[in-house]
Amino acid sequence: MFLTKDIYNIDELARFNLHIHTCFSKCANEEMTFENIVKTAEKAGLEMIALCDHVYEPKELDKFNLNCEMLKQKRDEIDSKVKILIGGEFSSYGAEKYTLKNIEIKTDYRLYAQNHFHVTGWEQAESKTPEGYKKLTKRMLETLFKDRAADTVAHPLCGMYLKSVTGWETETLGKCWKDEEIAEIMQKAFESECAWEINTVTSFSDPQLARRMYHIGKELGIVFTLGTDAHLLKNIDTKNFTEELKRILY
Ligand SMILES: [Zn+2]
Ligand SMILES: [Zn+2]
Repeated sequence: MFLTKDIYNIDELARFNLHIHTCFSKCANEEMTFENIVKTAEKAGLEMIALCDHVYEPKELDKFNLNCEMLKQKRDEIDSKVKILIGGEFSSYGAEKYTLKNIEIKTDYRLYAQNHFHVTGWEQAESKTPEGYKKLTKRMLETLFKDRAADTVAHPLCGMYLKSVTGWETETLGKCWKDEEIAEIMQKAFESECAWEINTVTSFSDPQLARRMYHIGKELGIVFTLGTDAHLLKNIDTKNFTEELKRILY
């Protein structure tokens, strides 16, 4: 569903923005209405977008489903060249826990965040060390892959969200990942047909890790998606980020 012609070419990947929040996400700006997002995506010449509002816990799913119905209705009513996926940014919030475990819901796109450690209720590592968080991260992702629960992992492996919990710099976790560990976990994603997100926010936050994941993933033949994690209209156009991304990744 996400394949472009040349899958390791950032300009090709940038035809799709597969990580956009609507105003149904509390952290997104109120300007992020369905209509404004589609208008902005059209102006940017995007071919496909994915609306991915946060779902932290299963108890939020009723509300999420209602919101999705509303968005789907709006999608049916407009005539747009942009292909619009109504998905969610679901949560892999514990070693064995993730939002849609044993739950069937209809959604176009299951983007899964695993490293929102700053969110209340998220499982923390037993040992508050980079090694401890790495171990927990592996277990969380392996559960997702084993159950084929995710279409894509959002902002994978990045330590940006650990800052407020541990006080570490973003790169502290990034530097701790060995190339072979990254390869091992990416291989498991590949085998479960799960794509790996190139998230502009976390790529800029830990460029070295982003670059390593890009090159390792390319070698393994993994599918990448590009997402800007837009919470504001000005962050929907992927072209605003591609030059900087190419400088970091290539
Ligand atoms: Zn996220
Ligand atoms: Zn997000």
